[in-house]
Amino acid sequence: MNAKILETENLTVNFDGFKALNQLNFSMDVGELRVIIGPNGAGKTTFLDVITGKVKPTEGQVLFKGKSIHSLAEHQIARLGIGRKFQTPRIYLNLTPRENLEISCNRNRNVFSSLFGRPSQNEQIKVKSLLATIGLSNQADIAAGLLSHGEKQRLEIGMLVAQSPDLLLVDEPVAGLTDEETENVGNLLLELAEIYSVIVIEHDMEFVRQIARKVTVLHEGSVLCEGSIEEVQKDYRVIEVYLGQQEDNDVRNI
Ligand code: ADP
Ligand code: MG
Repeated sequence: MNAKILETENLTVNFDGFKALNQLNFSMDVGELRVIIGPNGAGKTTFLDVITGKVKPTEGQVLFKGKSIHSLAEHQIARLGIGRKFQTPRIYLNLTPRENLEISCNRNRNVFSSLFGRPSQNEQIKVKSLLATIGLSNQADIAAGLLSHGEKQRLEIGMLVAQSPDLLLVDEPVAGLTDEETENVGNLLLELAEIYSVIVIEHDMEFVRQIARKVTVLHEGSVLCEGSIEEVQKDYRVIEVYLGQQEDNDVRNI
């Protein structure tokens, strides 16, 4: 059996009587790229909130590399090696991509010492290689505010990777991106999936088809089904829960 990077056991989150997660059992191998889909309100974001410690479960637990993270605070969980990318990029717009990555490489230093102290040679090499990975070598020294939305998304993914997490959580990375930018982000995530364990939450079915190996469908806070994109899209339960959703969310359009 493969080693597990993440498991949840009967995970339940009760918001004043409403179960955003309901006895959720989930398991993922080290090195896996998993895409999570599900209709609006299925509990996808809450699931990430629980993994990162932002929300504590009412019942059940999260195991990271086999150990319960129940008693840990959000920053301790991040330090253990779980990195999360939020939907809106959180980058320093007045700094360059290179400077943004330098800061992320060394989170123990603050912005000022990162900028005014010289980065070590190792750090410089790491940043250079990250810039190449995220395809921003040519824009390394312009203000990040001048980057396109897709480039900003890639920069933020790079900043996440700079912190060397073992598990990357990425929530709707291609919302609002052009087709070309969507493909770039997809290729970047596929490249990162060679090195890291990655969970991607996504609505864009075209994108899901580009990157997905194994898909987990959430519905009403539980796993509805799992499998390849082909298996999932023809599952009658999945088709049923997507009925009545917006057209671009419709799993039959995959
Ligand atoms: P998804 O990301 O799949 O669209 P969410 O995890 O954001 O779903 O939400 C799942 C359900 O839980 C939704 O019905 C939402 O309204 C509800 N919910 C999320 N956060 C809270 C909260 N802090 N208090 C009460 N209800 C919440
Ligand atoms: Mg959400």
